[in-house]
Formats: sequence, structure tokens, C-alpha cells
Amino acid sequence: GDLGALQARISVCRACPRLVRWREEVARTGRRAAFADQPYWGRPGPSFGDPQAEALLVGLAPAANGTNRTGRMFTGDSSGDFLWAALYRTGFAARPTSFAAGDGQALTGLRIVAAVRCAPPANRPTPAERATCAPWLQRELELAAPRLRTVLCLGSIGWDGALAAARAVGWGVPRPKPRFGHAAEATLGLPDGRSVRLVGSYHVSPHNTYTKRLTPDMLDEVLLSLRG
Ligand code: SF4
Repeated sequence: GDLGALQARISVCRACPRLVRWREEVARTGRRAAFADQPYWGRPGPSFGDPQAEALLVGLAPAANGTNRTGRMFTGDSSGDFLWAALYRTGFAARPTSFAAGDGQALTGLRIVAAVRCAPPANRPTPAERATCAPWLQRELELAAPRLRTVLCLGSIGWDGALAAARAVGWGVPRPKPRFGHAAEATLGLPDGRSVRLVGSYHVSPHNTYTKRLTPDMLDEVLLSLRG
């Protein structure tokens, strides 16, 4: 369908020279010793989850040895481990862990997308790279729109990316721009008159989870609120 065709187009995108170099260099030579014998995906990360989802989760960008290795969003690093455990506790994920294709993992009612699809050096995409990748997120929003009720954004880059993408596809976005925060909310207006709830969450990065700025309970709470 349209969603599969979109992922196929994304997976061969080479629009950001710096990110293409980095994702392929890590895949070739920059591997962690623990993964040295594994094949690396080394390409843009396709979105993952329920094609009929009423909720989208917008992440920042793949990790060099995570999604860039496994080819699945939030899979293969500690950020992902924290997220998948929460997705399982809250009933969105079929399993508490995510490894690779064929592991039985699946999402119901939720689809994971990202503001940037290729692993950036130091986990930091440039503003130009964020802008270059934005049309892929815009297309995800448009394809999800008929069933969409909520969008959960991890971190301020996910929040800003979702707001910019919503505005670019003609959805009503509040002005001034709603401020990001954990459990922050904003209402987006769809062209057909329905509204979509935008919800913020601190990112599941080790920086936030090890310091307990984001706890499992805090993440569970925002995930459960997606169904509210
Ligand atoms: Fe293409 Fe996005 Fe990857 Fe840039 S970050 S190369 S736009 S998929």
C-alpha cells in the first residue's frame, strides 16, 4: 500500500551527504566490538508499527549502533530497551523487548516514526538535515491522518519536528508555538475539522533515564494518555 511504498522510497534516500557518509561508515568500519560480526542496516530507518494506528510516536533520529544496525526504530540500544518495556507494559507492544525482524514484535494502535531517518554523528542532526528529512514525516502524517487521534513526541526535536510537519501539510497549529515539556499538550486542527492531540515526553535517552529525569512511571503515564 501507500505506507509500504513510502518506506521503500525512504529506505533508499541519500539526500543528506553527511548522514549518508556517517550511516555507511559506521556500518562498514565503526561498529562496536560487540556487534562486529553482525550485518548493519546502514540505511534510513523505516517507520514501524500498526498501519492502522490512531497514535504516532515521533522520535528524534536513529542511533548509529541501534536502528542503523538493526533496521528497526528504537531497536538495539538502551533508549530502545527503555521504550519497548514501556510499550509492552501499556499494551501497545506484543513483547517487552525488540531485537530484529522475525522476533515477533508488533505494535497495536501505535506507529513509530522519526523526525530524522538517518543516524547523525553525536546524535545531532543539523537544522538543514532536519529540514531535508521533514517531507518524509509530513507524508507519514498525511497517511496516518484518516485515523489519527494523538501524536506523542519524544524530546523537543520530535516536538518541533511534528509541529513543523503539521504546519507544512496544512494542519492548524497554535500560535505562539506550544512549549515542549513532559506531558505538555497541544491541539492540532485537521483540514476535515477533526483535532489531533499532540503530547510531549522527555526523550528515552540514557541521559534522561539514568538520571531519573524520565522514569518508567512517567513514560507509562503519557503512553496511557494516548488512549484517553
Ligand atoms: Fe534522506 Fe532523511 Fe536520511 Fe536525509 S536523514 S538522507 S532526508 S532519509
